[in-house]
Amino acid sequence: WTRNSFHGIQSNFSYQDAPPSDLTADQLLDGLLTAEFSKRSCRSRYEFASYHEKKKNTSHKPSPYLLGKLRRHEALQKRCGPGTAPYRAAVWQLKSGKGAAATDCRYLVSISYRGLGNRMLATASAFLYAVLTDRVLLVHQYKHDVSALFCEPFPGTTWLLPSGWSFPLGHLRDYGIGSKESLGNMLKANVISVGGDGNASWSDGGDHRPPFVYLHLEGGYDFHDKLFYCDEHQRLLHGAPWLLMKTDSYLVPGLFLVPSFQDELGKMFPEKDMAFYHLGRYLFHPVNDVWRAVTSYYRTNLAGVGQRVGIQIRVFQKKPTPLQYILDQVLSCVRREKLLPEITSSSMINASDQVILVTSLSAWYYERIREEYGGGRITGGVHQPSHEGRQKWGDTSHDRRALSEMYLLSTCDMLVTTGFSTFGYVAQGLGGIRPWIMPSTPIWSESDMAETKEVPEPPCVRAMSVEPCFHSPSYYDCTARRDVDVGKVVPYVRHCEDVSWGIKIANQSS
Ligand code: GDP
Repeated sequence: WTRNSFHGIQSNFSYQDAPPSDLTADQLLDGLLTAEFSKRSCRSRYEFASYHEKKKNTSHKPSPYLLGKLRRHEALQKRCGPGTAPYRAAVWQLKSGKGAAATDCRYLVSISYRGLGNRMLATASAFLYAVLTDRVLLVHQYKHDVSALFCEPFPGTTWLLPSGWSFPLGHLRDYGIGSKESLGNMLKANVISVGGDGNASWSDGGDHRPPFVYLHLEGGYDFHDKLFYCDEHQRLLHGAPWLLMKTDSYLVPGLFLVPSFQDELGKMFPEKDMAFYHLGRYLFHPVNDVWRAVTSYYRTNLAGVGQRVGIQIRVFQKKPTPLQYILDQVLSCVRREKLLPEITSSSMINASDQVILVTSLSAWYYERIREEYGGGRITGGVHQPSHEGRQKWGDTSHDRRALSEMYLLSTCDMLVTTGFSTFGYVAQGLGGIRPWIMPSTPIWSESDMAETKEVPEPPCVRAMSVEPCFHSPSYYDCTARRDVDVGKVVPYVRHCEDVSWGIKIANQSS
């Protein structure tokens, strides 16, 4: 079936499209995935496991509790999703401007933006929030940037927010810090009031409450928007039939700090630092074209070699000028951590059974690394799938190449990633690989690019977990009513290795 045709989805199944009954536990990622989809509709869904087999002995199984939550959530998405009577009633309520819910179905519209890595982390965060709060997740897409890349994650329905006349709110990407419907601005305007007991409520007893609440959760958000992370505001939000959430970040560590979510999150993720690993593997399945690109590249260049070493080089710069100190940092990291064979002057070295996958917007780093490690020094050679030159906005083929490279990196056994980069976070999270992170500083001006820049010492550090970093957390402790060091509130949320003000979920045994 086509990804957009959710009406009558069940009756459209042909014999070949019937849900497969022969799927193994491995293919279903130990029950994380439902067996309700046909294999053909989205090959990546049930083939992903076979490209990540080597790491099976260290596999982290999803908890039965998480599996139960996901199956119930799938039922909710199907019962309340687009095309259903509750959905029509909820849209009617939104159009009418009334705040009272028309049905027992509540909705979360995810508006994500920036590069693909940012968007995937934002979507995974919105999904977890939707599961925690029993809301239907609908993703807003921009120029088909979701349907061109990903299969539907929920059976028998769609996660795409219908566009055009069927959804009354337009220009969702224009919502921002100034939007009057935001939680922060409604608090400031006393549309929502907070009593002496700290409880938040609609000021006029709810008679004039708006039909939706906009959650402004991007970097640079203000004090009032950050109150999203407080229990009393969560209680108020629970009653809103529609929430719009706009973010470019991985909010999950922030959700782990909301006291009323902690119990549930603990049961869903007994290994807390595996949250994105499971969420990402559940939610994201590249469409067949992208998956074909991943698997054919893998078979031609990466298969059959003892060890795959992925090197992700992301330079945050305006002009794509090659930078020697970045190359030096990569080489210094792999040498120091002994990730690749030592290069000696003797030509008689034994080739090591490795292959290197380089991803970067530039070809220059790859060429230098190939000069160093190519020529038979490692059995599999050095490869780079693409060099796009620069980041391109709203370009589907560019995004497809980015997505396939994230998946290729995730098949590696070892990863060296660039700090700050959400592209690298997604690859490490999907693969369950604790990378060596190279600290990086964005280069905003030409003078910053001076060749005098030095390689940081150490050039890279081993990540404490496979989790992405949340770059813009709230520091406000809602109970203490003051800012605190959020890297010290609970033992499993720490400051990130690469972004000192960010937080991430740590592996408690590391
Ligand atoms: P971040 O900016 O590093 O946090 O990662 P994002 O994925 O959010 O945005 C960077 C975007 O630049 C990617 O989505 C790609 O479009 C592009 N890009 C950056 N690095 C690479 C790369 O190594 N390969 C490809 N194909 N695209 C890249």
